[in-house]
Amino acid sequence: MSTTNPLHQRPQPATLCVHAGTYHDERSGGVNTPIFTSTAYAFPNPANENVYPRYFNVPNQKSLAAKVAALEKAEAGLVFGSGMAAISTLLFAWLKPGDHAICQSGLYGGTHHFITHELAAFGIELSFVSNPDQLREALRPSSRVVYVESPSNPLLRCIDLVAVAALARKHGALSIIDNTFATPINQNPIDLGFDAVIHSATKYLNGQSDINAGVVVSSAAVVGNLNEYAVNHGGMLDAHACYQVERGMKTLALRIKQQNENAATLARFLETHPAVERVFYPGLVSHPDHAIAARQMRGFGGMLSFELRRPEQVDAMLSGFQLALPALSLGGVETLVCIPSRTSHRTMKPQDRKQAGISDGLVRVSVGIEDVADLKADFEEALAN
Ligand SMILES: *Cc1c(COP(=O)(O)O)cnc(C)c1O
Repeated sequence: MSTTNPLHQRPQPATLCVHAGTYHDERSGGVNTPIFTSTAYAFPNPANENVYPRYFNVPNQKSLAAKVAALEKAEAGLVFGSGMAAISTLLFAWLKPGDHAICQSGLYGGTHHFITHELAAFGIELSFVSNPDQLREALRPSSRVVYVESPSNPLLRCIDLVAVAALARKHGALSIIDNTFATPINQNPIDLGFDAVIHSATKYLNGQSDINAGVVVSSAAVVGNLNEYAVNHGGMLDAHACYQVERGMKTLALRIKQQNENAATLARFLETHPAVERVFYPGLVSHPDHAIAARQMRGFGGMLSFELRRPEQVDAMLSGFQLALPALSLGGVETLVCIPSRTSHRTMKPQDRKQAGISDGLVRVSVGIEDVADLKADFEEALAN
């Protein structure tokens, strides 16, 4: 396998999206990575490798991992059957009973549930923090992991990643970020000092709302250690799905450029709309973390949320969309709308939800690549209901 780089400079992200990791099959000369379907490989083999899909080392897995690693400027990576497989395997691999993990409050619901149920039952002590000052206070000698998301769901809060990574490093804790919302096109946490980056590739990396997949990228040492555990946990991604995500990622830079633009335009439009109380988009100067986002992101992403002036309007608005689809998940080419108080945050007590800033009239939008004039017209019409 070769990750050919005929250029003398470091290729830019759009170039890496197309070319990084591709397996060039010399016999056919095909320009795409072939799909290697075997679960049985010659043994012994000339490379002295024991190749098996559950060992995370068949060509399609390696090609996809190499593409994400190149985009995130990491030494190595592993691809998993879902974002949750990536997250749970990395945390179980790194932590042992008695260790302490510091997590950002307001993590993705599945991650929060995994951490508070399974990691806690495994004997991991937990602290939840919202900013670098709280992180500094929470650090203990047994702290081995610092885990964050930025921008976060659904209010797109951003945390100072340089400060977080520096505190973790000084303390010898592994800094991990779930970079799903930003994508490597908008944000490279390893450049900011992070040790490991996770993606739910189900979202923007694949971008077509038709595959569940996850990725961890980090140093060769961290990924090597993770690989040993991952073999036992068995959460690998099948070769066909690897191929599809690799194909989806060829257009990642193009899609994100359009989604950044569409989301910014829609955010500005909603900010002036009389039915809208408030818009949360890190690219708006009105966002509480705009300055942090502007320092650490190249683009502000395709996710936004807004609060309706009259929460009673939610159902009328939802039934008024012709284009935007009321649906869960995010990061695909189509615009999706959901109501966090009824979806991701529905199991929270109303009091806690209110404290977390998730009102009943909060609407989350995953902005797609449709023509933005059509999107504006669709929101205009739905909000007139
Ligand atoms: C969806 C998501 C996950 C979980 O990914 P799956 O592929 O559904 O397992 C983790 N983190 C974030 C931020 C997500 O949006």
